[in-house]
Amino acid sequence: MDSLSFKNQILKNSNLSNEKSLVVERNNESKEPLVLIRDLKVVYNLGKPNENEALRGVSLEIYPQEYVIFFGPSGCGKSTLVNIIAGLEIPTEGEAIIDKRSLHKFSSNEMAMFHRREIGMVAQAYNLIPTLTVLGNVVLPKIFERKSRRERRRRGEELLLKFGLEKLGKRLPSELSGGQQQRVGIARALVNDPAIILADEAVGNLDSESAQNVLEILNRLNADDKKTIISVTHNPEHLFYADRIFHMKDGRIVKVEINKDKVRKLKPKEGSDADANRKKTALELLIEAYPNLSGMDLNTMIAPFKAKMLTEYLTNRFEEWEIAFLEKKIGDRLLGRLNEIGLMQILDVSHDQGGLNLNINLARYFSRTVEGIFEEAMQLKEKRNILETGSEEEKAGAVKNIRTILLNDFGGKLTDEKMIALDKGIQLRLLNQISRKELQSFLDRPFNEGGAGLNSKTAKKITQKLELILLMEFGT
Ligand code: ADP
Repeated sequence: MDSLSFKNQILKNSNLSNEKSLVVERNNESKEPLVLIRDLKVVYNLGKPNENEALRGVSLEIYPQEYVIFFGPSGCGKSTLVNIIAGLEIPTEGEAIIDKRSLHKFSSNEMAMFHRREIGMVAQAYNLIPTLTVLGNVVLPKIFERKSRRERRRRGEELLLKFGLEKLGKRLPSELSGGQQQRVGIARALVNDPAIILADEAVGNLDSESAQNVLEILNRLNADDKKTIISVTHNPEHLFYADRIFHMKDGRIVKVEINKDKVRKLKPKEGSDADANRKKTALELLIEAYPNLSGMDLNTMIAPFKAKMLTEYLTNRFEEWEIAFLEKKIGDRLLGRLNEIGLMQILDVSHDQGGLNLNINLARYFSRTVEGIFEEAMQLKEKRNILETGSEEEKAGAVKNIRTILLNDFGGKLTDEKMIALDKGIQLRLLNQISRKELQSFLDRPFNEGGAGLNSKTAKKITQKLELILLMEFGT
């Protein structure tokens, strides 16, 4: 079939509008689609009672330098489609061809290269690594490229400057506003200069001014830097900048709208710092924004964040795309879409079967660690109730129990005095009377200066573990 009749076939199959993309009209050179999706179906839990057809035959094309949006209600398949284009999900049927190469035929090395160099992913606001500085976060993907420190730094600083973040390079993400954090996320997505930016509900957690700012940045990347932007939203107010809007419903594209009013000329607007004074955590913002959320909803919303924290805990030596893959699957596990065995299997099986190709022992270790932390979080929940209502003796028992969990991987032996100090720190943290930072510095401080006298590494490890379990317990 020649390429024209092939294209017509696709248009017929998917009911797409026959109008050409504005970008294709405008720019005659770019006739070849950059992204070509053919008859794509994604079925989760195939053949099981909970089978779920997330995509039911999607075909589309996206041209170089286009700005497209997948738009539709929650659950219509937008993220699945984006994950397919990112190579994080394997189609059940059909194909995704990017720049003339079929994604599911990639070896894992090719996939790593593709993900690293050709795709920049921007997710919701809280996707930065909390223990790395802003500059460290931006240049993280460069580490996998084995570039020199100096070169990484230069590229990182250039990007911080581009997004008005140059003064914040040494800060930690938690010291930034949501809008600033999202600009860091975009800078990170651009660090390897990819042709395609995938933005999955990139402004979903931001207040309207910060959201506008981020949308304008994406627009500038499209208009000035010639990036192809593929964005996902359920908010009709965000459709303005797109060249084309793919309306989705129940796993299908039901309409393709061409945005004739798109304003290509932009009023330049420097990064807004209006929200800079607010230094609340993402969780605080979330709870403030949705005071009526039930624990269950909250859990669903923070699952991606939990997945990031768990992944960070499990590994820091993987390729970037592997980390993204792991995060996605741990997120599925947190949302109950995978069970323990399912998680282990998907980590173990080969890439062309939609897996991560880990060796079975590592896959087992990962899934066990995840389950172990869930289990510990459940125990913590029970003990926390005791701390609030129990007798003194029961409280001491509860704290001891948590301490045992925290010291599980600790090889050394603590003196009785240090143990008592550690218990006190744990109890205060569990009752929210001290912050994470205060706990860590209390554990780290010498015993004769009123601290618990642990060595710095142990203090940090114990604090990290306790916070992780607290986070996992949150919303359950
Ligand atoms: P959207 O991004 O539009 O909210 P998604 O692509 O996330 O939609 O999901 C489409 C459908 O597929 C939903 O019904 C969702 O619950 C389901 N789904 C998504 N991922 C999985 C998964 N890993 N396992 C089972 N079902 C899934």
